[in-house]
Amino acid sequence: MTDLPADLTAELLVEADVAICGAGPIGAATAYFLARMSPELRIVVLGDDPDDDPGHVSTYRYSGGSIRWTWADPVKREMTAETAEFVQGLIAEGVDLAAIENTYHLLHTGEHIPALNISATRLVSHLLERAADAGAQVIPGAVVEGVRPDGSGHLIETTRGTIRAERVLFALGAANARLFPQSEAELEKRQLFVLDLPVPPERERMPHTIVPVGEGFGYAFVKSVEGHLRVLVGQEDIVEDDDLSGPVDHWETLLESGLATALPWLRDAKVEQILWGVDIAEKKLVLDEPAPGLLLAGCGSSVRSSAWLGRTLAERLAA
Ligand SMILES: Cc1cc2nc3c(=O)[nH]c(=O)nc-3n(C[C@H](O)[C@H](O)[C@H](O)COP(=O)(O)OP(=O)(O)OC[C@H]3O[C@@H](n4cnc5c(N)ncnc54)[C@H](O)[C@@H]3O)c2cc1C
Repeated sequence: MTDLPADLTAELLVEADVAICGAGPIGAATAYFLARMSPELRIVVLGDDPDDDPGHVSTYRYSGGSIRWTWADPVKREMTAETAEFVQGLIAEGVDLAAIENTYHLLHTGEHIPALNISATRLVSHLLERAADAGAQVIPGAVVEGVRPDGSGHLIETTRGTIRAERVLFALGAANARLFPQSEAELEKRQLFVLDLPVPPERERMPHTIVPVGEGFGYAFVKSVEGHLRVLVGQEDIVEDDDLSGPVDHWETLLESGLATALPWLRDAKVEQILWGVDIAEKKLVLDEPAPGLLLAGCGSSVRSSAWLGRTLAERLAA
């Protein structure tokens, strides 16, 4: 746990039953389910702003938003099937999640896997709005700096002041590991290429395209990032080094191992930046409780499991 100085000087901003630190897919979904499940609880959600978060490339803001629910593994199948049903319910209600159907496919095998692509950013905004409607207090621009025990509860230090809460969920994505280096969650390095490429209208709806690369996969999708339409190319499982501190250049490997054959126009792209992100390899819920009532939650591909994660964590926090 992060140690804070004993003489905290910041004023107590708010007192809550439950504080949710981090307003990504896990935090927003937990707030959504908890606020509806337990309206009597005082729930606070602490979020930061992208401008204050130079490391946000590893967050949901860059996610492909792919929701695939035909997994062989029964746990992953349950997590994704529940989320798919939830998301389809929102779409049926008229919530615009920028969904595209049937877009997850392996070009080389021709296997077509039923799936949805949604905007993770829109999903998170929607969940937070609904959580606020149900009584949760969302405090934007509150960067969490540390936490320490306080009697039966916890004091959370943020850039906007101190929050006291009985129970706390840390759902800061990759940042959980920076604040809690002793966490069990394993970080996985991903490589992400943000390409400046003219995107004609037919490519704007380009599906989340997956191609086998070496022993893993490469993927490409079009995304609006910070107001620009960009092509994002990423990789899974082909980073050979264990150094999590910076990028490695597998752009040529990706192109030559199948991606350029499948999507020849990628050869015209100028790689504007090479960024890296981290994810949690298992794609299942990793939950630590370093102190009673202090939960650390992480999950790889948590957009596609967000409803299951939110409900599961809300049940735990409501108890
Ligand atoms: C390129 C790429 C493609 C991906 N594609 C998919 C996909 O197709 N489908 C899928 O399901 N998943 C995908 N993922 C994975 C998915 O984005 C992550 O699993 C998910 O974002 C993790 O959610 P989270 O809520 O745990 O954390 P995050 O998304 O990291 O959210 C954490 C939030 O906490 C904030 N935060 C961080 N530090 C602090 C702090 N100190 N104080 C306050 N707030 C803080 C962050 O800014 C963010 O808002 C992809 C990821 C990447 C990088």
